[in-house]
Amino acid sequence: MNFKALALVLYTASFLYELFMQYLDWKSKDNPIPANVRDVYDGEKYTKWLHYHAEGCALQLASAAASYLFYLLLLLFDVFPRFAPSADPYLAALELMVIILALEAVVGAVFSYIDSMVIDQKYGFNKRTLKVFLVDQVKSFIINTALTVGLVLLFALIYRSLGDWTLLLFTGIAAAILLAVTVLYPILSKIYNRFTPLPEGELRDKLTELLTKNGYRVRQIQVMDGSKRDSRANAYFSGHGRTKTIVLYDTLLDTMTADEIVAVFAHELGHGLHKDTWKTLPISVLQIVCVVLAVWLTVRTESIYTWFGFDGVNYGFAFFLASVVELPLILPLFSLAANAVMRRAEYRADAHAVKEGYGSDLISALKKLSRDSLTNLSPSPIAVKLYYSHPTLSQRIAAIEKAM
Ligand SMILES: [Zn+2]
Repeated sequence: MNFKALALVLYTASFLYELFMQYLDWKSKDNPIPANVRDVYDGEKYTKWLHYHAEGCALQLASAAASYLFYLLLLLFDVFPRFAPSADPYLAALELMVIILALEAVVGAVFSYIDSMVIDQKYGFNKRTLKVFLVDQVKSFIINTALTVGLVLLFALIYRSLGDWTLLLFTGIAAAILLAVTVLYPILSKIYNRFTPLPEGELRDKLTELLTKNGYRVRQIQVMDGSKRDSRANAYFSGHGRTKTIVLYDTLLDTMTADEIVAVFAHELGHGLHKDTWKTLPISVLQIVCVVLAVWLTVRTESIYTWFGFDGVNYGFAFFLASVVELPLILPLFSLAANAVMRRAEYRADAHAVKEGYGSDLISALKKLSRDSLTNLSPSPIAVKLYYSHPTLSQRIAAIEKAM
Protein backbone atom coordinates (compact mmCIF):
# COMPACT_ATOMS: atom_id res chain seq x y z
CA MET A 1 0.00 0.00 0.00
CA ASN A 2 1.24 3.52 -0.73
CA PHE A 3 1.28 4.78 2.86
CA LYS A 4 2.63 8.17 1.88
CA ALA A 5 -0.29 8.94 -0.43
CA LEU A 6 -2.72 7.61 2.15
CA ALA A 7 -1.19 9.78 4.91
CA LEU A 8 -1.33 12.91 2.75
CA VAL A 9 -4.97 12.28 1.81
CA LEU A 10 -6.03 11.68 5.44
CA TYR A 11 -4.02 14.64 6.66
CA THR A 12 -5.62 16.92 4.07
CA ALA A 13 -9.06 15.57 4.99
CA SER A 14 -8.65 16.54 8.65
CA PHE A 15 -7.33 19.96 7.62
CA LEU A 16 -10.44 20.51 5.48
CA TYR A 17 -12.61 19.46 8.41
CA GLU A 18 -10.80 22.01 10.58
CA LEU A 19 -11.39 24.68 7.93
CA PHE A 20 -15.08 23.83 7.89
CA MET A 21 -15.31 24.22 11.67
CA GLN A 22 -13.51 27.56 11.44
CA TYR A 23 -15.92 28.65 8.73
CA LEU A 24 -18.87 27.83 11.02
CA ASP A 25 -17.24 29.84 13.80
CA TRP A 26 -16.69 32.82 11.52
CA LYS A 27 -20.24 32.66 10.10
CA SER A 28 -21.72 32.57 13.60
CA LYS A 29 -21.48 36.37 13.67
CA ASP A 30 -24.56 36.36 11.41
CA ASN A 31 -26.60 34.16 13.77
CA PRO A 32 -29.39 36.01 15.59
CA ILE A 33 -28.57 36.83 19.21
CA PRO A 34 -30.98 35.04 21.59
CA ALA A 35 -33.44 37.37 23.35
CA ASN A 36 -32.26 36.57 26.88
CA VAL A 37 -28.72 37.81 26.23
CA ARG A 38 -29.41 40.84 24.04
CA ASP A 39 -28.62 43.17 26.91
CA VAL A 40 -25.06 41.84 27.30
CA TYR A 41 -23.50 44.13 24.68
CA ASP A 42 -24.45 47.68 23.88
CA GLY A 43 -23.90 48.96 20.33
CA GLU A 44 -20.29 49.94 20.94
CA LYS A 45 -19.36 46.70 22.71
CA TYR A 46 -21.03 44.68 19.97
CA THR A 47 -18.95 46.38 17.28
CA LYS A 48 -15.89 45.69 19.40
CA TRP A 49 -16.89 42.03 19.65
CA LEU A 50 -17.32 41.81 15.86
CA HIS A 51 -13.78 43.09 15.33
CA TYR A 52 -12.34 40.87 18.04
CA HIS A 53 -14.11 37.84 16.56
CA ALA A 54 -12.92 38.61 13.03
CA GLU A 55 -9.30 39.02 14.15
CA GLY A 56 -9.46 35.82 16.21
CA CYS A 57 -10.85 33.89 13.20
CA ALA A 58 -8.15 35.26 10.91
CA LEU A 59 -5.43 34.22 13.34
CA GLN A 60 -6.91 30.74 13.73
CA LEU A 61 -7.01 30.31 9.97
CA ALA A 62 -3.41 31.44 9.59
CA SER A 63 -2.30 29.16 12.43
CA ALA A 64 -4.11 26.10 11.03
CA ALA A 65 -2.74 26.76 7.55
CA ALA A 66 0.82 27.20 8.86
CA SER A 67 0.71 23.98 10.84
CA TYR A 68 -0.84 22.12 7.89
CA LEU A 69 1.87 23.35 5.53
CA PHE A 70 4.60 22.63 8.08
CA TYR A 71 3.81 18.93 8.31
CA LEU A 72 2.76 18.65 4.66
CA LEU A 73 6.20 19.79 3.50
CA LEU A 74 8.01 17.60 6.02
CA LEU A 75 6.03 14.55 4.93
CA LEU A 76 6.07 15.30 1.22
CA PHE A 77 9.82 15.87 0.94
CA ASP A 78 10.93 13.11 3.33
CA VAL A 79 12.47 15.62 5.73
CA PHE A 80 11.83 13.56 8.88
CA PRO A 81 14.72 11.06 8.35
CA ARG A 82 17.20 13.94 8.04
CA PHE A 83 16.40 14.94 11.61
CA ALA A 84 17.36 11.47 12.86
CA PRO A 85 20.85 10.58 11.62
CA SER A 86 21.71 8.13 14.43
CA ALA A 87 21.52 4.38 13.92
CA ASP A 88 20.54 3.71 17.53
CA PRO A 89 16.72 3.48 17.63
CA TYR A 90 16.36 5.44 20.90
CA LEU A 91 18.77 8.17 19.87
CA ALA A 92 17.14 8.46 16.43
CA ALA A 93 13.71 8.88 18.05
CA LEU A 94 15.10 11.43 20.50
CA GLU A 95 16.81 13.53 17.80
CA LEU A 96 13.73 13.60 15.59
CA MET A 97 11.34 14.50 18.39
CA VAL A 98 13.44 17.25 19.93
CA ILE A 99 13.92 18.94 16.53
CA ILE A 100 10.24 18.68 15.55
CA LEU A 101 9.00 19.81 18.96
CA ALA A 102 11.41 22.75 18.93
CA LEU A 103 10.25 23.82 15.45
CA GLU A 104 6.62 23.40 16.54
CA ALA A 105 7.31 25.49 19.64
CA VAL A 106 8.82 28.32 17.59
CA VAL A 107 5.89 28.41 15.16
CA GLY A 108 3.46 28.06 18.09
CA ALA A 109 5.15 30.89 19.98
CA VAL A 110 4.76 33.25 17.00
CA PHE A 111 1.00 32.64 16.85
CA SER A 112 0.68 32.74 20.60
CA TYR A 113 2.49 36.09 20.57
CA ILE A 114 0.05 37.52 18.03
CA ASP A 115 -2.88 36.08 19.98
CA SER A 116 -2.02 37.43 23.41
CA MET A 117 0.56 40.18 22.94
CA VAL A 118 -1.02 41.75 19.85
CA ILE A 119 -4.77 40.98 19.60
CA ASP A 120 -5.58 40.56 23.31
CA GLN A 121 -3.37 43.55 24.02
CA LYS A 122 -5.37 45.66 21.59
CA TYR A 123 -8.66 44.71 23.28
CA GLY A 124 -7.31 45.30 26.77
CA PHE A 125 -7.22 41.64 27.88
CA ASN A 126 -3.50 41.06 27.96
CA LYS A 127 -1.66 41.68 31.22
CA ARG A 128 1.45 39.61 30.38
CA THR A 129 4.75 41.37 30.24
CA LEU A 130 7.10 40.15 27.53
CA LYS A 131 9.04 38.38 30.27
CA VAL A 132 5.98 36.45 31.52
CA PHE A 133 5.15 35.52 27.93
CA LEU A 134 8.65 34.21 27.22
CA VAL A 135 8.95 32.34 30.52
CA ASP A 136 5.57 30.66 29.79
CA GLN A 137 6.77 29.58 26.36
CA VAL A 138 10.01 28.14 27.73
CA LYS A 139 8.25 26.33 30.61
CA SER A 140 5.68 24.82 28.23
CA PHE A 141 8.39 23.73 25.81
CA ILE A 142 10.37 22.00 28.55
CA ILE A 143 7.34 20.26 30.09
CA ASN A 144 5.90 19.25 26.72
CA THR A 145 9.23 17.96 25.37
CA ALA A 146 10.16 16.07 28.54
CA LEU A 147 6.74 14.43 28.72
CA THR A 148 6.42 13.58 25.02
CA VAL A 149 9.99 12.36 24.55
CA GLY A 150 9.90 10.47 27.87
CA LEU A 151 6.65 8.68 27.01
CA VAL A 152 7.70 7.79 23.46
CA LEU A 153 11.08 6.44 24.60
CA LEU A 154 9.35 4.46 27.34
CA PHE A 155 6.95 3.09 24.72
CA ALA A 156 9.91 2.08 22.53
CA LEU A 157 11.69 0.44 25.44
CA ILE A 158 8.63 -1.61 26.42
CA TYR A 159 7.80 -2.46 22.81
CA ARG A 160 11.31 -3.73 22.08
CA SER A 161 11.28 -6.01 25.08
CA LEU A 162 7.63 -7.06 25.39
CA GLY A 163 6.25 -6.72 21.85
CA ASP A 164 2.47 -6.70 21.70
CA TRP A 165 2.06 -6.64 25.48
CA THR A 166 3.05 -2.98 25.18
CA LEU A 167 -0.55 -2.21 24.36
CA LEU A 168 -1.74 -3.33 27.78
CA LEU A 169 1.18 -2.20 29.90
CA PHE A 170 1.61 1.20 28.29
CA THR A 171 -2.12 1.96 28.43
CA GLY A 172 -1.93 1.22 32.16
CA ILE A 173 1.04 3.54 32.63
CA ALA A 174 -0.59 6.37 30.65
CA ALA A 175 -3.87 5.97 32.60
CA ALA A 176 -1.93 6.09 35.89
CA ILE A 177 -0.24 9.33 34.78
CA LEU A 178 -3.65 10.80 33.88
CA LEU A 179 -4.97 9.86 37.32
CA ALA A 180 -1.96 11.39 39.04
CA VAL A 181 -2.35 14.63 37.08
CA THR A 182 -6.06 14.83 38.00
CA VAL A 183 -5.33 14.39 41.69
CA LEU A 184 -2.20 16.54 41.76
CA TYR A 185 -3.51 19.32 39.52
CA PRO A 186 -3.69 21.86 42.38
CA ILE A 187 0.03 21.28 43.00
CA LEU A 188 1.08 21.13 39.33
CA SER A 189 -0.69 24.41 38.56
CA LYS A 190 1.85 26.17 40.78
CA ILE A 191 4.30 25.81 37.89
CA TYR A 192 2.47 28.65 36.15
CA ASN A 193 0.70 30.63 38.85
CA ARG A 194 0.90 31.81 42.42
CA PHE A 195 -1.88 30.83 44.81
CA THR A 196 -2.70 32.45 48.12
CA PRO A 197 -5.43 31.55 50.63
CA LEU A 198 -8.48 33.81 50.46
CA PRO A 199 -7.90 36.44 53.18
CA GLU A 200 -10.09 36.41 56.27
CA GLY A 201 -13.16 38.63 56.15
CA GLU A 202 -16.82 38.76 55.27
CA LEU A 203 -16.40 36.99 51.93
CA ARG A 204 -14.43 34.09 53.37
CA ASP A 205 -16.98 33.73 56.18
CA LYS A 206 -19.79 33.53 53.63
CA LEU A 207 -17.98 30.94 51.52
CA THR A 208 -16.97 28.86 54.54
CA GLU A 209 -20.57 28.93 55.76
CA LEU A 210 -21.68 27.59 52.38
CA LEU A 211 -19.13 24.76 52.59
CA THR A 212 -20.17 23.83 56.14
CA LYS A 213 -23.86 23.90 55.21
CA ASN A 214 -23.17 21.40 52.43
CA GLY A 215 -20.92 19.28 54.65
CA TYR A 216 -18.11 19.80 52.17
CA ARG A 217 -14.44 20.17 52.97
CA VAL A 218 -11.80 21.61 50.69
CA ARG A 219 -8.13 21.93 51.47
CA GLN A 220 -8.33 25.62 50.80
CA ILE A 221 -10.20 28.37 49.03
CA GLN A 222 -7.44 29.88 46.97
CA VAL A 223 -6.93 33.05 45.03
CA MET A 224 -4.92 32.75 41.82
CA ASP A 225 -2.94 35.61 40.31
CA GLY A 226 -4.82 35.43 37.00
CA SER A 227 -4.15 39.14 36.53
CA LYS A 228 -0.53 38.24 35.81
CA ARG A 229 -1.60 37.22 32.31
CA ASP A 230 -5.11 38.30 31.56
CA SER A 231 -7.82 40.68 32.71
CA ARG A 232 -10.59 38.12 32.22
CA ALA A 233 -12.04 36.53 35.36
CA ASN A 234 -12.63 32.87 36.16
CA ALA A 235 -12.94 30.26 38.89
CA TYR A 236 -12.56 26.49 39.00
CA PHE A 237 -12.65 23.39 41.14
CA SER A 238 -9.80 20.86 41.05
CA GLY A 239 -8.10 18.02 42.89
CA HIS A 240 -9.38 15.05 44.81
CA GLY A 241 -9.45 13.96 48.44
CA ARG A 242 -6.91 16.00 50.34
CA THR A 243 -5.99 18.11 47.30
CA LYS A 244 -9.56 19.39 46.74
CA THR A 245 -9.33 23.10 46.02
CA ILE A 246 -11.67 25.83 44.86
CA VAL A 247 -9.74 28.51 43.01
CA LEU A 248 -10.97 32.05 42.47
CA TYR A 249 -9.06 34.33 40.10
CA ASP A 250 -8.00 37.63 41.64
CA THR A 251 -9.68 39.26 38.64
CA LEU A 252 -13.00 37.72 39.75
CA LEU A 253 -12.66 39.30 43.20
CA ASP A 254 -11.91 42.66 41.58
CA THR A 255 -14.82 42.79 39.15
CA MET A 256 -17.74 41.07 40.91
CA THR A 257 -20.01 42.03 43.80
CA ALA A 258 -19.81 39.87 46.95
CA ASP A 259 -23.05 38.03 46.07
CA GLU A 260 -21.87 37.39 42.51
CA ILE A 261 -18.65 35.88 43.86
CA VAL A 262 -20.64 33.66 46.23
CA ALA A 263 -22.85 32.61 43.28
CA VAL A 264 -19.80 31.62 41.21
CA PHE A 265 -18.37 29.85 44.25
CA ALA A 266 -21.63 27.95 44.77
CA HIS A 267 -21.39 26.83 41.13
CA GLU A 268 -17.83 25.51 41.71
CA LEU A 269 -18.97 23.85 44.93
CA GLY A 270 -21.64 22.12 42.82
CA HIS A 271 -18.83 20.65 40.68
CA GLY A 272 -17.12 19.42 43.85
CA LEU A 273 -20.27 17.91 45.33
CA HIS A 274 -21.07 16.11 42.06
CA LYS A 275 -17.45 14.86 41.72
CA ASP A 276 -17.36 16.33 38.22
CA THR A 277 -13.58 16.03 37.79
CA TRP A 278 -14.12 12.26 37.52
CA LYS A 279 -17.03 12.31 35.06
CA THR A 280 -14.90 12.46 31.93
CA LEU A 281 -12.28 10.01 33.19
CA PRO A 282 -13.73 6.92 31.42
CA ILE A 283 -13.74 8.85 28.13
CA SER A 284 -10.14 9.98 28.74
CA VAL A 285 -9.06 6.40 29.41
CA LEU A 286 -10.76 5.21 26.19
CA GLN A 287 -8.98 8.03 24.41
CA ILE A 288 -5.65 6.85 25.83
CA VAL A 289 -6.39 3.32 24.58
CA CYS A 290 -7.06 4.79 21.15
CA VAL A 291 -3.85 6.84 21.12
CA VAL A 292 -1.71 3.90 22.27
CA LEU A 293 -3.42 1.67 19.70
CA ALA A 294 -2.64 4.15 16.91
CA VAL A 295 1.05 4.42 17.89
CA TRP A 296 1.30 0.66 18.34
CA LEU A 297 -0.22 -0.07 14.90
CA THR A 298 2.10 2.51 13.32
CA VAL A 299 5.16 1.00 15.00
CA ARG A 300 4.13 -2.52 13.97
CA THR A 301 3.59 -1.71 10.30
CA GLU A 302 7.24 -1.61 9.33
CA SER A 303 6.60 -1.01 5.63
CA ILE A 304 5.32 2.50 6.41
CA TYR A 305 8.77 3.90 7.12
CA THR A 306 10.43 3.33 3.76
CA TRP A 307 7.66 5.39 2.12
CA PHE A 308 8.90 8.40 4.07
CA GLY A 309 12.61 7.85 3.47
CA PHE A 310 13.52 5.89 6.62
CA ASP A 311 15.56 2.67 6.65
CA GLY A 312 13.40 1.19 9.38
CA VAL A 313 11.07 2.01 12.25
CA ASN A 314 11.55 5.38 13.95
CA TYR A 315 9.50 5.61 17.17
CA GLY A 316 9.45 9.40 17.14
CA PHE A 317 8.10 9.45 13.60
CA ALA A 318 5.50 6.84 14.55
CA PHE A 319 4.32 9.18 17.29
CA PHE A 320 4.05 12.19 14.94
CA LEU A 321 2.33 10.18 12.24
CA ALA A 322 -0.20 8.92 14.79
CA SER A 323 -0.79 12.32 16.39
CA VAL A 324 -0.79 14.47 13.26
CA VAL A 325 -2.38 12.19 10.66
CA GLU A 326 -4.31 9.38 12.34
CA LEU A 327 -5.69 10.72 15.60
CA PRO A 328 -7.23 14.00 14.33
CA LEU A 329 -9.64 11.76 12.40
CA ILE A 330 -10.81 9.97 15.57
CA LEU A 331 -10.32 12.36 18.47
CA PRO A 332 -13.25 14.70 17.60
CA LEU A 333 -15.52 11.79 18.57
CA PHE A 334 -14.00 11.73 22.04
CA SER A 335 -14.26 15.47 22.41
CA LEU A 336 -17.92 15.21 21.33
CA ALA A 337 -18.60 12.74 24.15
CA ALA A 338 -16.47 14.48 26.80
CA ASN A 339 -17.97 17.89 26.06
CA ALA A 340 -21.52 16.52 26.25
CA VAL A 341 -20.70 15.16 29.73
CA MET A 342 -19.11 18.45 30.79
CA ARG A 343 -22.00 20.58 29.54
CA ARG A 344 -24.41 18.47 31.59
CA ALA A 345 -22.14 18.97 34.60
CA GLU A 346 -22.29 22.75 34.03
CA TYR A 347 -26.10 22.74 34.12
CA ARG A 348 -26.03 20.78 37.37
CA ALA A 349 -23.44 23.08 38.93
CA ASP A 350 -25.58 26.08 37.94
CA ALA A 351 -28.60 24.35 39.49
CA HIS A 352 -26.66 24.00 42.72
CA ALA A 353 -26.06 27.77 42.84
CA VAL A 354 -29.81 28.25 42.27
CA LYS A 355 -30.57 25.82 45.10
CA GLU A 356 -28.41 27.94 47.40
CA GLY A 357 -30.48 30.98 46.46
CA TYR A 358 -27.98 32.64 44.15
CA GLY A 359 -29.74 32.18 40.79
CA SER A 360 -30.10 35.83 39.87
CA ASP A 361 -26.61 36.66 41.15
CA LEU A 362 -25.22 33.87 38.98
CA ILE A 363 -27.03 35.27 35.95
CA SER A 364 -25.59 38.72 36.50
CA ALA A 365 -22.12 37.24 37.17
CA LEU A 366 -22.25 35.19 33.95
CA LYS A 367 -23.41 38.19 31.93
CA LYS A 368 -20.61 40.28 33.38
CA LEU A 369 -18.05 37.56 32.61
CA SER A 370 -19.30 37.29 29.03
CA ARG A 371 -19.33 41.03 28.52
CA ASP A 372 -15.83 41.48 29.93
CA SER A 373 -14.36 38.66 27.85
CA LEU A 374 -16.21 39.49 24.59
CA THR A 375 -17.86 36.07 24.42
CA ASN A 376 -19.62 34.83 21.30
CA LEU A 377 -23.33 35.01 22.21
CA SER A 378 -24.56 33.08 19.17
CA PRO A 379 -22.04 30.34 18.36
CA SER A 380 -22.79 27.71 15.75
CA PRO A 381 -24.89 24.92 17.34
CA ILE A 382 -22.65 22.31 15.67
CA ALA A 383 -19.55 23.89 17.21
CA VAL A 384 -21.25 23.94 20.62
CA LYS A 385 -22.03 20.22 20.36
CA LEU A 386 -18.50 19.33 19.25
CA TYR A 387 -16.17 21.66 21.10
CA TYR A 388 -17.93 23.58 23.85
CA SER A 389 -17.29 22.37 27.37
CA HIS A 390 -19.88 24.89 28.59
CA PRO A 391 -23.42 25.52 27.29
CA THR A 392 -23.86 28.93 25.68
CA LEU A 393 -24.65 31.89 27.93
CA SER A 394 -28.21 31.95 26.60
CA GLN A 395 -28.72 28.23 27.31
CA ARG A 396 -27.35 28.58 30.83
CA ILE A 397 -29.51 31.58 31.66
CA ALA A 398 -32.61 29.83 30.31
CA ALA A 399 -31.87 26.78 32.50
CA ILE A 400 -31.14 28.90 35.59
CA GLU A 401 -34.38 30.87 35.16
CA LYS A 402 -36.31 27.65 34.76
CA ALA A 403 -34.74 26.21 37.94
CA MET A 404 -35.56 29.40 39.86
ZN1 LIG B 1 -18.47 25.08 35.83
